[in-house]
Amino acid sequence: MDLSQIVEEIVAAMRDADDRGTVANYIPELAGIDPAQFGIAIVMADGRMIAGGDADTGFSIQSISKVFALTLALGKVGDQLWERVGREPSGNAFNSIVQLEQEKGVPRNPFINAGAIVVADVNLGGHQPRVAIGEMLRFIRYLAEDDGIAINEAVAASETATGFRNIALANYMRAFGTVRHAADLVLGTYIHQCAIEMSCRQLALAGRYLMLDGMHPAGGRVIPPARARRINALMLTCGHYDASGDFAFRVGIPGKSGVGGGILAIVPGRASIAAWSPGLNANGNSQLGTRALEELARRTGWSVFSPTEGDA
Ligand code: GLN
Repeated sequence: MDLSQIVEEIVAAMRDADDRGTVANYIPELAGIDPAQFGIAIVMADGRMIAGGDADTGFSIQSISKVFALTLALGKVGDQLWERVGREPSGNAFNSIVQLEQEKGVPRNPFINAGAIVVADVNLGGHQPRVAIGEMLRFIRYLAEDDGIAINEAVAASETATGFRNIALANYMRAFGTVRHAADLVLGTYIHQCAIEMSCRQLALAGRYLMLDGMHPAGGRVIPPARARRINALMLTCGHYDASGDFAFRVGIPGKSGVGGGILAIVPGRASIAAWSPGLNANGNSQLGTRALEELARRTGWSVFSPTEGDA
């Protein structure tokens, strides 16, 4: 099977797709992005890169940053993190507040906004936001081996001016002690990590440690194998909010989406994949990104539920 051929055909199909979803408009700076774009990049375990479409165009990684933030927070406090955030799918929208009162301010998982705000609180660790953000940026640059990765300040400013739901979530959790810093400091960290801009190529490279059981392809270990497996498990069960079950059903590999239209998907031992198209479905996940990954998994046979995981 020729993977480049499959990628070319997927890119062509996505270029012609009519149902492209709707670009996120609750963050004004994202609202103007052209929905006609689609990109995909696949890095194989042997280092081969296959990319197509707008694979070099930068986009706002948004909630995909929650994967890297979780990795850092687990490195700082280890399993103590699970006293402040759960690891169950929420069945609710990414920015929902409804479960928090009943569940005493402990968010369901680190990939919904409430959970990611707790993770940002841990990463802040008594420092100023710029220290935590600097650490996050250095970490992602090291993972992708690319010092050109940066924050889009206009996106960060836009979300700072309009992110009232996240301010409410942070303050609400502060009342329960699951968030420990002032809301503006925690959100300063969270919003800037979400505003990191990357291309599909850069994102697929940054995800390699999750394909390689925690190893950095250039040598050395990023995280222990058990931790890489658990992050992948959380991506599969919680990475697409209230559509996580549907993503597991249709695609069958761990994935994390963001409202910028990106998805990072991992085939353990085989591939790290980034797909991007800005239009979102009703659950806030990339419409064409999901479709492309579904098609890719079907044609390669890649699945965490397959005994052979395909032969690509
Ligand atoms: N920064 C966005 C928010 O907090 C991230 C949400 C997302 O990508 N699902 O609303």
